[in-house]
Formats: sequence, C-alpha cells, structure tokens
Amino acid sequence: MKINPFESALTQLNIAAKYVRMPGWVLEVLSRPERIIEVNFPLEKDSGAVEIIKGYRVQFNNWMGPYKGGLRFHPQVDMDEVKALSFWMMIKNATVNIPFGGGKGGLEIDPKKLSEAELERLSRSFARALAPNIGPEIDVPAPDVNTTGQIMNWMTDEYIKKTQKYTKEQLRATFTGKPVGKGGSLGREEATGMGGFFVLRELMGKLKLGKDLTVAVQGFGNVGSHLASLVSEYGLKVVALSDSKGGVYAEEGLDVQEIVSFKKDGGSLADYARKRSSCEAISNAKLLELPVDILVPAALESVITKENAPKIKAKVILEMANGPITAGADLILNKRKIPVVPDVLANSGGVTVSYFEWYQNMHDEKWSLEKVNRKLEKMMVEAFGEVWKIKGEKRISMRTATYILALRRLLAARK
Ligand code: NAD
Repeated sequence: MKINPFESALTQLNIAAKYVRMPGWVLEVLSRPERIIEVNFPLEKDSGAVEIIKGYRVQFNNWMGPYKGGLRFHPQVDMDEVKALSFWMMIKNATVNIPFGGGKGGLEIDPKKLSEAELERLSRSFARALAPNIGPEIDVPAPDVNTTGQIMNWMTDEYIKKTQKYTKEQLRATFTGKPVGKGGSLGREEATGMGGFFVLRELMGKLKLGKDLTVAVQGFGNVGSHLASLVSEYGLKVVALSDSKGGVYAEEGLDVQEIVSFKKDGGSLADYARKRSSCEAISNAKLLELPVDILVPAALESVITKENAPKIKAKVILEMANGPITAGADLILNKRKIPVVPDVLANSGGVTVSYFEWYQNMHDEKWSLEKVNRKLEKMMVEAFGEVWKIKGEKRISMRTATYILALRRLLAARK
C-alpha cells in the first residue's frame, strides 16, 4: 500500500496540537495549504518538437515570513508529497526560528532525459511561469531533488528580467542555493549535514554517549556524505553507507573520505564493496536493521515503516531525509524508547543557511565561511536546547516537542 506522506505529517501535527492551546480553526488552517499554484508551459525540445510541461508550487503558510522551500524536478512529482514537504518546511523554519514560512514545488519531468540547453529553457520557462507568485518578500524557492545551483542561477537570471521593484542584488534573494559566485552563500552545500552533526553532538552530550559509537548512513548524496564525513572526523565509527544501488558494511569502520573520492569518480557503493575484501555488500533494507548505535536515514521518505520498525536495532535515529519514518513506525519506535531526532530539527541546517544567503543578498553583504558556520552552530544548538527542554517538561518524544516549539512560534507570529 502506498504511504501518503501528507497523512503522516497531519498525524504528527495532531499529536502535538493536543499540547498547545489554540482555536480549532487555527489547527484547520495549519492542516491545509494556503495556496496551490499549477502552471503549464511549452518546452521546445532540441528536435523542434514542443512538449507541454506541468508544474506546481504549494504555498503552505506565511505567518513567519515569505514561503520558503525547494523545487523538485521528477517524473513522479506527487501533490501529496509536495504538500507534505511544504508543511514540513513551515514546521522546520519555525523550529529554527527563521523568518520564513513553508513552501515547495516541482515539475513533472525527468531532467536526466534533457540536454543542457533543454534544461536551461525549462528552468527559465518555469521561472517566468512562477514570476507573479514569487519574490524576495513573497516566496523564495531553492534546490531540491534533481535541481542544482546552476538551475537556481538560470531561474534567478530569468526572474530578474521580469521585475524592477528591487536592486539586482536584492532580486537574487528570490532564489537560494545559488552558486557562490552568483549570489550564493559560502557553506550552503554542506549546511544540512553540518546542522545535523551539531544536533547529534548535542544529543550525544545529553545522553552521555561518549564517542565510542558506530554509525550507519542510508543515502550518500549531499546530505549523507557531508554528515558521514563530519561524524567520522569527530571520531565516531561509520560502519555502513548506501546509495540507490545498495550499500557497503565494514565492522571495523569505513574510510569515508576514500569513499567520497570513489563516488566522485563515478563508482557506486556496491562497486566499492566488491573491490575491498574488508567490506561486505549489503542491501538498503539490511542497512536499516544493522546493530549500530546511530542510524541516519538520509535518502528517501517512508523507509522505516510499521513492518521494519520492530526490527530496528539502532539506539538513536537521526532523520536527515524528510519524512523517512512513517507515523505508524514512529509510534512503534516511541514505545521501544528509541530516541528519534526528527527531520524538521535534524535537517534544518540547509534552510538556515538559505536564510543567511537571502539575508546577504537583501543587505548586499558577503559573509565568510567561518561566520556562516558559527551562526549555523548557534542556531542549531539553540533549537536543540529548546526542544530538549520541552521534551523533558512534558515527557514526550523529540518530534512532538519540536512540533510544540514550532506551533508556539507560528501562533505568536500570527498574532
Ligand atoms: P541527493 O540527491 O544529493 O542524494 C540522495 C542520495 O540517496 C543518493 O546517494 C542516492 O543514491 C540515494 N538514494 C536514492 N534512492 C535511494 C534508495 N532507494 N535507497 C537508498 N538510497 C537512495 O539528495 P540530498 O540533497 O542528499 O537529499 C537527501 C534527503 O535529505 C532528501 O530526503 C531531501 O529532501 C533531504 N534534505 C536535503 C536537504 C539539502 O540541503 N540537500 C535539506 C533538507 C532535507
């Protein structure tokens, strides 16, 4: 049965809402998007043929500030998924207390089947189609699955042609996740992994875990690879990693930097496992059930379900992907007293540095990497501290505590 991530998101909201005093209609408003925009536009292929492309932008809520969230280019962009992702952006931004609301969007297309010139025309047309509904103080998109800094740069360039209300530098703030030389911020690329690392380090301190810990990370893209590198540099033992083709396991620990280089040269983790006698090839399903101290899902939604939740052996789960644990699995993990750092806290480092990028564009500033990382650390540590306090006071999960913190901020912003 297909799991609907928006239903999981609403289950999480309704659990937390019992702890926060608010009129019923406010909960209703927070349960549905404020606006769903559908756009349709022609794309001229290199062959001269024209295809009509359908796209969406969900603007979930803007009480805290402009809608904020990524654009996904994928053949199966699904409205329930986009709604869930825009809802989580609303919660995430309120959790780290940045002045943004929740948004998300996407195009129903497989960009891997397009030439570079077609991808550029597609991105520029999408920017023109969205132009009336976005802007530095309205809605600020960013990269997501299959969208890159280069795509943000094309979209920014196209958007700037359409409006004269701000300076050129301020108009760049309409998109974040841009390349560094084109108005992007230093530190954005590694920010999500780094934010997750700061939160994990704080949790290890609270639980007095020491550093003699094993870690398994599912997904070795932007988020998984940076997180794995940072925890390994910190002294934890990364024993398992995976990508879409499968995973690699070594009880003695993996050389994360060597694997980063191997992936850069085009190899998969399954290839790496085959080439090293000290390593074993494992499936993605098996990785989730390894007897490790820390499990990090950093790939897709809904990978931990009611079926495999009873078999999870990790002592702590750090949710770096969005929505990797279904609502049903979450209940099982709570009963089993396995602490879960929720996605809306653990992976909020990325949008926090997107906020820094927006701020630098709006104020014509350029921050050093050291300044970006210092500010990121401060905001992540503060958000974790507040979540931990609420969790202790109410004796609830970190997820519910994070939602309570976010709901309190949203309600204050509405007033
Ligand atoms: P990415 O495209 O860079 O990497 C995704 C990784 O997952 C790749 O290694 C891919 O091989 C792997 N993968 C794909 N299908 C898989 C499967 N079936 N099983 C196992 N692995 C699979 O994406 P990313 O930016 O690292 O994002 C990963 C997750 O983190 C997503 O859920 C995303 O929404 C979330 N996230 C990303 C950011 C960010 O700043 N990039 C911020 C917040 C949340």
